[in-house]
Amino acid sequence: MKMSKLFVQTLREFPSDAEVISHKLLVRAGFIRKLTSGVYNYLPLMKRVLSKVENIVRDEMDKAGAQELLMPFVQPKELWEESGRWEVYGKELMRLKDRHDREMCLGPTHEEVITFVAREGLKSYKQLPVNLYQIQSKFRDEVRPRFGLLRGREFIMKDAYSFGTSEAELDAEYENMAQAYKNIFSRCGLDTKMVQSDSGAIGGSVSHEFMVITDTDAGENDVFYCKTCDYSANSNHAVSILPEANTNGNFSKPEVLDTPNTKSIEELCDFLKIEPSVILKTLVYIADKKPVLALIRADKQVEETKLMNAVGANDIRIASSAEIEELMINCGFNAKPGFIGPVLNNGENTFKKQEVTVIADETIKTLTNFVVGINQTDKHLVGANYNQDNAGLTLIEPDKYADIRLVEAGELCPVCKKPLFVTRGIEVGNIFKLGTKYSKPMNAVYTDIDGKTKPYIMGCYGIGISRTAAAAVEAHHDDFGIKWPVAIAPYHVIIVPADLKNEEIKSTAENLYNKLLEAGVEVVIDDRDERPGVKFKDADLIGFPLRVTVGKSLAEGNLEIKIRSTGEVSMVPVNESFDFVMNFLKK
Ligand code: ATP
Ligand code: MG
Repeated sequence: MKMSKLFVQTLREFPSDAEVISHKLLVRAGFIRKLTSGVYNYLPLMKRVLSKVENIVRDEMDKAGAQELLMPFVQPKELWEESGRWEVYGKELMRLKDRHDREMCLGPTHEEVITFVAREGLKSYKQLPVNLYQIQSKFRDEVRPRFGLLRGREFIMKDAYSFGTSEAELDAEYENMAQAYKNIFSRCGLDTKMVQSDSGAIGGSVSHEFMVITDTDAGENDVFYCKTCDYSANSNHAVSILPEANTNGNFSKPEVLDTPNTKSIEELCDFLKIEPSVILKTLVYIADKKPVLALIRADKQVEETKLMNAVGANDIRIASSAEIEELMINCGFNAKPGFIGPVLNNGENTFKKQEVTVIADETIKTLTNFVVGINQTDKHLVGANYNQDNAGLTLIEPDKYADIRLVEAGELCPVCKKPLFVTRGIEVGNIFKLGTKYSKPMNAVYTDIDGKTKPYIMGCYGIGISRTAAAAVEAHHDDFGIKWPVAIAPYHVIIVPADLKNEEIKSTAENLYNKLLEAGVEVVIDDRDERPGVKFKDADLIGFPLRVTVGKSLAEGNLEIKIRSTGEVSMVPVNESFDFVMNFLKK
């Protein structure tokens, strides 16, 4: 490819709307251009990178025994009603109507369609197990599309789905996919960590995510991990053992105290001269439109996904002050937010009447003689205990105890009790055990050896193709641009003739170019009438793994070859330059 013909416009500046380095560099180096929020044109250089990632994925999936198919991007509402997800999938699901007013959606994922495909075609146990995958654009109307390709609204995904007859078969396929994923990411030049995670909207019981570890904002997930054993988990799923803490309030008797201006935990601690670990904190959330009281030891935070799962909801958010005030009024209390607490109103559970669910974190069980809000402004109950009269007040027994606590670094590993560490991660892929979550409601069954019909035991396995490419940029770049791993680089080599008017330089560059082309090397020659400095800048920015400069040193019979990833420069005799390039690419 001649640089003069390559469809690429590099920019002098980073785009002003980009926050993370992969977004900045992919735009500046001419790989992508935004069409509209969260939707990008993949220009020729990007298309080459994406195809390479796809081909690695394809190769490993095929080796692992999966078969590729391609499902439609537009899906009918009826299938989503069968699975029950038409109602519960939030606004991320882009819904539309055709000319006959039939409702459809743009595929954000394909569990429904693949289950339909399977039930049409996989009728007998003899055909199972099967793993089917596709590589395709997905659309999700994300709340916050950002970070360029890392969180787009339209993006490319590899999604695979396995069908089997038993849990054991699913376990084996899950392991098989985990290994395929390790191979895929390592071939893409990415170091990944396989971490336990929540199963989210897709559902199921067991799931793992593959994270590219980064210390930048681009990592949207907090990953807790142990350096002693191999425990690691997304914060939405991580558990820990708490180090010793004082959880006894040491008040001699239950008593209601005036606590003026103590609506925050900090103010309350200052006023009562206590530690937050002896306070029962009450937070209000709205889960599937209904209020939830979350009770937790006040030195700890609530993890929203865990709370959502404990409630059994599909959606959760913290309540606003106005919503808390309204709830208090509806429950017959006249108090400011900040003083809410799980207590009866004159012997009556007015929260229950308002359909409020009360979820208590496990930490509540260890509190004694604690401090708690009682729905009265500027007052708190101290020396409180469950199952006793608390100065005439009664604490509401939670509907459920659950682990809803956000783990913090320094707490102890649940496996080996050593301190946990935290880091950020970009989720590039995930694997889920779905079980019969889709096959049961969609009546997707096969006939087993005993003649009975049974729902398939399913798994699903996703990889963000476009996100993986962007994650590679996050992992491999410097101040000058991208340092593509060879396996997914758009081109392998750029040849820069430093002076096109010099016939010897020009012909040496062209000879090497033609020889490499013939050998199947993906090579670009920078034949533009530009200063060498401009050419070098573009070469570094775009991130060609090798740069061959034909310039001054040709007088001594040498070419200058620079390895982009290490910055290492070698003077290579002209007649050895072809072999040098070939050997580098073989590695
Ligand atoms: P996330 O938690 O990041 O939103 P997810 O749990 O919604 O991801 P899946 O639905 O399982 O992800 O999708 C499979 C893969 O698709 C993810 O592992 C990720 O690599 C990729 N992916 C998901 N959402 C996006 C997006 N908005 N933009 C780019 N890639 C995405
Ligand atoms: Mg998502």
